[in-house]
Amino acid sequence: MMAKSYDVIVIGAGPGGMTAALYASRANLSVLMLDRGIYGGQMNNTAAVENYPGFKSILGPDLAEKMYQSSTQFDAEYGYGSVDSVTVGDDGLKTVVTDSETYETHALIIATGSEYRKLGVPGEDEYGGRGVSYCAVCDGAFFKNKPVAVIGGGDSAVEEGGYLSQMTSGVNIIHRRDQLRAQKILQDRAFANDRIGFTWDTIVTEILGDGQKVTGVATHNKKTGEDSQQSVDGVFIYVGNQPMTAPFLDLGITDEKGWIVTNEKMETKVPGIFAVGDVRQKDLRQITTSVGDGGIAGQEAFNYLQSLGD
Ligand code: NAP
Repeated sequence: MMAKSYDVIVIGAGPGGMTAALYASRANLSVLMLDRGIYGGQMNNTAAVENYPGFKSILGPDLAEKMYQSSTQFDAEYGYGSVDSVTVGDDGLKTVVTDSETYETHALIIATGSEYRKLGVPGEDEYGGRGVSYCAVCDGAFFKNKPVAVIGGGDSAVEEGGYLSQMTSGVNIIHRRDQLRAQKILQDRAFANDRIGFTWDTIVTEILGDGQKVTGVATHNKKTGEDSQQSVDGVFIYVGNQPMTAPFLDLGITDEKGWIVTNEKMETKVPGIFAVGDVRQKDLRQITTSVGDGGIAGQEAFNYLQSLGD
């Protein structure tokens, strides 16, 4: 089968990938944006976005739609594809193999982002979709007027805990330390919310159920050594993310944890392969920083293709 060819292929249609596609297509390059799901990435799992300039507050899926309309206005194509592998030929041509197609490009922009990490305790898999969730926006409505636990102490746990407090009977945030990692504004809001409680210095050792659905969590206090149980109907797990880089590990562009290493031009160490957004090794993973990365990579892909013609 003949491989389909594009000037630029962007893998992943979150904010970083969509911005890269906007910049590259506006520079008159042929661009394909591949994603294995709906465009928008993690914005689709976010209730209110309050730190994207231009909007005091906007629903994550609404922002995703606006970005998609914008990123495809110069004819960047958006297509389904779950990428299996990327190889680089001696001539620098990159071959991208998906579950249904093979593509070729000289400029590849990886924008695959990250996915939630599991807690790794008994009951987590057994009660997945039956009380255990990783997405408050998707599943919160199932717990109307019922008590839920949120596990974690970062931005996601605290922000989504606030969202869940609006429809549940109460949220208990269980955190393994006595201080939250989340941004101060999110902490202040959570501390002022009388529908949110906290259990400090505590790890969840098991998710309990009756065979059908979640009934509670078993906990262990690391300071007092006390083992205890809490009755809840839902458990929302927000204990961090891991990079989605499995198809790229053979390229030698990742660090020991799998995040992709780039310079300020979003270049990896393979010429013509760029990475943007949450999949990069970086400190601040935000929609704004992904968008910034995407603009740089779209422009640098153009510069790279120009250099090939010199
Ligand atoms: P995160 O910042 O990595 O926080 C993970 C939290 O889970 C930490 O509090 C951590 O505890 C805890 N944790 C990790 N492993 C655990 C385990 N095995 N058992 C119990 N607790 C565990 O992840 P995140 O909150 O999902 O955020 C991911 C990225 O997205 C961050 O860069 C964040 O800033 C960004 N984000 C931003 C916003 C926003 O700007 N509004 C919203 C959501 C996410 P320790 O604190 O003890 O390490």
